[in-house]
Amino acid sequence: MLIVKKFGGTSVGNSERIQNVAKRIAAEYKKGNDVVVVLSAMGKMTDVLIDQAKELNPNPPKREMDMLFTIGEQQSVALMAMALDAIGIPAISLNAFQVPMETTKVYGNARLKKIGTERIRHELESKKVVIVTGFQGVNKYEDYTTLGRGGSDTTAVALAAALHADACEIYTDVDGVYTADPRIVKNARKLEEITYDEMLDLATLGAGVLHNRSVEMAKKYGVPLVVRSSLNESEGTVLKEETTVERMLISGVALDKNVARISVMGLKDEPGIAFKLFDCLAKANINVDVILQSIGRDGTKDITFTVAKDEADNAVKTIHANKARITLQDITVNKHVNKISIVGAGMMSNPGVAAKMFEALYNVGVNINMISTSEIRVTVIVDEGKAEKAMNAVHDAFALGE
Ligand code: ADP
Ligand code: ASP
Ligand code: MG
Repeated sequence: MLIVKKFGGTSVGNSERIQNVAKRIAAEYKKGNDVVVVLSAMGKMTDVLIDQAKELNPNPPKREMDMLFTIGEQQSVALMAMALDAIGIPAISLNAFQVPMETTKVYGNARLKKIGTERIRHELESKKVVIVTGFQGVNKYEDYTTLGRGGSDTTAVALAAALHADACEIYTDVDGVYTADPRIVKNARKLEEITYDEMLDLATLGAGVLHNRSVEMAKKYGVPLVVRSSLNESEGTVLKEETTVERMLISGVALDKNVARISVMGLKDEPGIAFKLFDCLAKANINVDVILQSIGRDGTKDITFTVAKDEADNAVKTIHANKARITLQDITVNKHVNKISIVGAGMMSNPGVAAKMFEALYNVGVNINMISTSEIRVTVIVDEGKAEKAMNAVHDAFALGE
């Protein structure tokens, strides 16, 4: 069997944890299996690197950020190979150039295009454990790129697909996928199984336990994926096309803290204004999420929308730069908002779901800033300070912990 195992930052956060993971890898290897390991940077290393960069430049060039980021994963794979060597297991670490892992050219948010398997296969044939840097890739300019925060999951799934692995195991610091982040919602329940689609929605709406593109890729290539703990032996959560357990109305609650709300006030109330506003943002590569437009009054209207927090300043700058096209009176930015979503295919045929969520928020005195819905999710924007209370209230209202 060929098994891809991915260990996240906390799981390799210090020498002792690296040694524990090395023992787990050794046990798999000794069963006679081929083992490919993908690692994240140790602990909070990626955040430390961002802080270091920002001390020198508040707006560091993205290419140089990627160059910097790659040292994090390179450190952990080299140390893991040493830890395995120390317990008599032959191992070799490889970075994105050595594999190679080819990506699109965008720095900071590249997509994997092609993975070379020859070198890995060769190393596996010579009975080595192969340890690959997560998160990083190489673009056509022969520069390092990265896949976006949390991207090591995607590296692991992509490798599993390219190598036609028999299993892909994502080891993290919780026991599996829960109905909500167990660090925020104490009575969140671990799911034995979840469909790729449900997991994709949860991940896209902020459940950071898996990088959303890893789920997308696992579904596309039918990669058998399991999320489990690196700290204990418990079973974990299996991702499947169809689950055998009965579908719940709601599969989970997700929190996204990476949100900022921008209000553009005093826009002319005439055709083409929304187009001009969002067109200039699209051209600047800024993704807009929830959008709210007020009813026109006295010939003007307001449009409020959300973007990722680190895009907010850029969005405001872009709108100001396009003032000749977009007449407006004022822009305000609020970086202290969070997004809470409930997800589940079951809500499609259940009209009361949104109202139930709003009632739960009302009962704990949480004000809703913005609302957006689709057939399978309801999203609200609330003040940052109220988000955890709101998460718990919504989770309880749907009795997800039971
Ligand atoms: P790793 O470094 O292993 O990739 P992450 O921090 O990226 O770990 O992801 C694991 C974390 O995801 C957990 O510690 C947990 O706080 C968070 N999380 C958010 N939503 C969920 C969820 N629905 N189920 C489990 N964990 C979740
Ligand atoms: N080290 C990267 C990050 O912190 C990638 C990952 O952990 O998956 O985002
Ligand atoms: Mg992660």
